[in-house]
Amino acid sequence: KELAIYNYGELIKHFPFRYEDRSIVLKVNEITKDLPHIQVKGVVKSLRHEGTGKGKRLICILIDSESSMELIWFKGINYITKYIEIGKEYLCFGKPSFFNGKYSIVHPELTLIENNQLNENLGLAAQYPLTESLKRRGIDSKFIRNCASQILKNPLFIVTDYLPKGVKDYYDLISRQDAFYNIHTPINLSYLGKAQKRIKFDEFFMLQFKMALLNKDRKIKLNGFIFGQVGDLFKTYYKDHLGFELTNAQKRVIKEIRKDMQTGHQMNRLLQGDVGSGKTIVALLIGLIAIDNDFQVCIMAPTEILAYQHYESISKETEGLNIKVDILTGSTKKSKRVDLLSKLAAGEIHILIGTHALIEDRVVYKNLGLAVIDEQHRFGVVQRSKLWSKNSIPPHVLVMTATPIPRTLAMTVYGDLDSSIIDELPKGRKPVITIKRNDNDRLKIMHFVKEEVDAGRQVYFVFPLIEESDKLDLKDLMNGYNMVADHFPLPKYQIGLMHGKLRPDEKRQVMDLFQSGVTNILISTTVIEVGVNVPNASVMIIENAERFGLSQLHQLRGRVGRGSDSSYCILVGSHKLSANARERLGAMVKTSNGFEIAAKDLKLRGPGNIEGLEQSGILDLKLADIVKDEDLLMKAREACYKILEYDPKLESPDHIILKKYIESRNKKMGWSRIS
Ligand code: ADP
Ligand code: MG
Repeated sequence: KELAIYNYGELIKHFPFRYEDRSIVLKVNEITKDLPHIQVKGVVKSLRHEGTGKGKRLICILIDSESSMELIWFKGINYITKYIEIGKEYLCFGKPSFFNGKYSIVHPELTLIENNQLNENLGLAAQYPLTESLKRRGIDSKFIRNCASQILKNPLFIVTDYLPKGVKDYYDLISRQDAFYNIHTPINLSYLGKAQKRIKFDEFFMLQFKMALLNKDRKIKLNGFIFGQVGDLFKTYYKDHLGFELTNAQKRVIKEIRKDMQTGHQMNRLLQGDVGSGKTIVALLIGLIAIDNDFQVCIMAPTEILAYQHYESISKETEGLNIKVDILTGSTKKSKRVDLLSKLAAGEIHILIGTHALIEDRVVYKNLGLAVIDEQHRFGVVQRSKLWSKNSIPPHVLVMTATPIPRTLAMTVYGDLDSSIIDELPKGRKPVITIKRNDNDRLKIMHFVKEEVDAGRQVYFVFPLIEESDKLDLKDLMNGYNMVADHFPLPKYQIGLMHGKLRPDEKRQVMDLFQSGVTNILISTTVIEVGVNVPNASVMIIENAERFGLSQLHQLRGRVGRGSDSSYCILVGSHKLSANARERLGAMVKTSNGFEIAAKDLKLRGPGNIEGLEQSGILDLKLADIVKDEDLLMKAREACYKILEYDPKLESPDHIILKKYIESRNKKMGWSRIS
């Protein structure tokens, strides 16, 4: 349960995260203090229990031909006492400590040596991700290793090798059975390398197949509404309401989307555009076309703050157009919700804005024609798929994101989406000036903030906090608040405080006060990270900037530079930065291009850490890494598409096993239902 391993198949897929070289066995008198890990062989001479309560421990004296050392356990004592026998020989592995002139190992890994012979090879010992409580019960790396090797040696356990022989030969891949065996108990590095290659290849191959199936399904099956006409709403808004000229990129993207909506197929389009590039207006214009064609529109945002912001700005934009805009979130009161849902079902609401609440089963539309999903990295495929079921014919879906995804990744992960890019910022935008500072510059920073505030601008201070934690510790934030308040006393200055633990209505109030300019300074956690739009804010100060990921920093910086004033992003970091942190902050100073930032972020963090990808449920990679193993990804992709090109239905005898395997996976994972 702790590792979510319920059967043999899952156990052999519990991969090691590193290997320790066990080819060297030292004598006790050869141990030195600087060795991180040692391995010694010796006979157990005695066992004794010492201490009571928390200090209770088991001490074992181990001797080899020349000297002796202690093995110590504080936990799992009963289990170990049963396992160890005096007079028998063991191989011990662990981290040496030096105390009272003697070496010892606390909680060593033990292997019984019978008849002077080791039952396992002394090559590379796989180390597994395990929990403390499992280790305490004797379920350590060695245990897992042994289980895996026993399973794989058992002739009744067959690892299906679904790759056609031609593919294995061409890409020089070993069998899947061998690969699993050698991933758990590799004899040497060369075998390990081959095992890793095969398993990574398979992970990529299946990912590609999954995406190929999704694509096929979508293109073949899903009919879509045809939005034939650009009607009065769109024309009136464009002529009389739109307060600025669209950028060429915005115009192009609108054309691309329009085209999709006339094909008779359902649109699934990803709209990528850097922060501030004006995605919302694109969504609104497209939405008006949908309404012109007698359909409803929903716009889904990842946070309530953002949902309210969209609600307010879109309500304002559409004033006088005679359309009804409403909002539904988790905190919508029951009476209002009942009323809203009945209006929605009757088609009296044209644009519904909200959070996840929009996709709950009880939300029924009269005729939902377009669903816009904003800042999609917070939304998973599964959530997207829920929208499909809102109509007999699924609505067109426009997914918008400001966290652009590098091409390789997009191709793989969002292969089921077509893509449009806004690669141009509205005219007159000045790039945000980004500066790295440290705590010693505090006075200078405050002085600068004062100048800006006195000139009528507004300022954000963002502090790192882990929002997800139940016991949200607001200490850092409150310290920060007090620090800023010291410099900006009431009543001349108003400071707002925003964090995840506020009630939705409190959050809204804080945001409203900042939006309307009543508060000069907003002290906040990253709840304002995504989408918040207050054009008068010109300074973003990010405290402990080294604790944020690159994409997050870029998102935060995107909160300023939204008006015509020069704006600034000040990254306050500590003196001593890790190499990785230095690179992150350096990249921020160097570029404001979201695509470059995303590529760099991917490189620094690996795709597993990119927010949302994991939850997206699509990137089921255990060993393979999209960035580091890009070569292999391309090969697996090539193999997959070649097979599908020559044998799209997998009917050739060479592909029978593959077909069966995919069908069983498909049934289990419901791939084809996703899109
Ligand atoms: P994002 O792409 O980050 O969601 P928004 O849609 O919030 O960006 O737009 C940022 C700001 O830019 C908004 O205030 C919006 O009204 C404004 N804007 C959008 N398009 C243009 C344009 N073509 N010219 C001038 N301002 C624009
Ligand atoms: Mg936005």
